[in-house]
Amino acid sequence: MSAPNHNHSIDMQELDRMRPPDEARAIIARHLTPVGSEHVPILDAGGRILAEDIHAPEDHPPFPASTMDGYAVLAEDSSPWREIIGTQHAGAIIDAEVTEGYTVRIMTGAALPPGANAVVPVEATELMEDHVVIHQEDVKSGENVRPVGSDLKQGTLVLPKGTRLGAPEIGLLASMGIDPVPVARKPKISILSTGDELVEPSDHQPLGPGQIRDANRFSLATSLREEPVEITWIGMAPDRREDLETLLRTRLAEDDIVITSGGVSMGELDLIKAILFDADDVQVHFRRLYMKPGKPLNFATHDSTLIFGLPGNPVSSLVTCELFIKTAIRQMIGLSADKIDRPTLRVTLLEDVNPSDRIEYQRGVVSVGADGRLVGRNTGSQISSRLQSFLGINALLIIAPRESVYRAGEQVSAIMLAPPYAD
Ligand code: AMP
Ligand code: MG
Repeated sequence: MSAPNHNHSIDMQELDRMRPPDEARAIIARHLTPVGSEHVPILDAGGRILAEDIHAPEDHPPFPASTMDGYAVLAEDSSPWREIIGTQHAGAIIDAEVTEGYTVRIMTGAALPPGANAVVPVEATELMEDHVVIHQEDVKSGENVRPVGSDLKQGTLVLPKGTRLGAPEIGLLASMGIDPVPVARKPKISILSTGDELVEPSDHQPLGPGQIRDANRFSLATSLREEPVEITWIGMAPDRREDLETLLRTRLAEDDIVITSGGVSMGELDLIKAILFDADDVQVHFRRLYMKPGKPLNFATHDSTLIFGLPGNPVSSLVTCELFIKTAIRQMIGLSADKIDRPTLRVTLLEDVNPSDRIEYQRGVVSVGADGRLVGRNTGSQISSRLQSFLGINALLIIAPRESVYRAGEQVSAIMLAPPYAD
């Protein structure tokens, strides 16, 4: 006899209750574990999430630096004639002190020589053999000089943990000498497409009776790669229980997230749902959502591994991946809290929209209208097999269920996947 099965002991009605998407997200958030961190070379750190607070280890600039090519002078010196006693290039230090009547030629980024407290730009001077004539009256102390620590003060928190590292962040890390960089480990994810009808896209034979090409594994992997993840390619499997079980077993031991597509509806061969439910070491948390598309999403855990049994329809799998899996990933990699959810904006509908009996996430195009307000429309037929409904979109329009049609001119919320388009 095996250990008692947790799933078999829970109330089936509760397990299959259609959960509002927000409740489902809260359940997922309660079961995820943040991934650990690792150090990577700075050039590999772009797009990753910083795993530690980074404080400035030193002042920047570390010396008073000239912002101009010109002459380092004593501001208080009133005579226009200065004798040139040397040249200070960036990265070199000459042995010269600027006193009244003297100057050092200086380049942008070079350290101000001792004694000097201002730089007169070369444009305001006239060179005469070993002298220079300063044509600028009233030179102020500190003029054209970046004081020590003016860009970055030693000890300031420059980049908090949870920052996504883009070009300026990488530049700052480099200027602070942070290499290698502490970042969140990439969650390990495997994606398995299931279904007897599936054929590899690289298989160029004409489709046999009842066959279709596997789309989901490829669309899901591409969508997931927007986040720093490591995807294990395990292919597709027919609807055979033993095969699916064996495959899932190996992945559950290895991965942070296991994703399956297909096999979670009410059909006889909807085996993923049955396998998860019957596994003694897998806890199923919910199996139905009060939303469209994506109603039959199965969410389960095995130790710290999250398991998402996505519906097979290409639109359903991609929408649920966006709303639930990518949100979970952003939490697991420790992205700062205000960046976990995509921004939601109110948009004015350009056309009538028919609501459904569940919260519907319609693929939408949002742009800035003539008056500066945001306007949106959906992409035609929203049937969950029609992947074209995703083309060109930058938003998911949230259409809450209600009796009456949403009329053009009404406002709805839109989850923004990319910025609004221009007018
Ligand atoms: P299922 O969730 O297995 O009942 O599948 C629902 C629908 O999605 C069926 O029409 C399947 O043929 C289709 N489907 C399932 N898996 C895929 C896939 N990987 N790529 C494209 N379509 C799929
Ligand atoms: Mg199927």
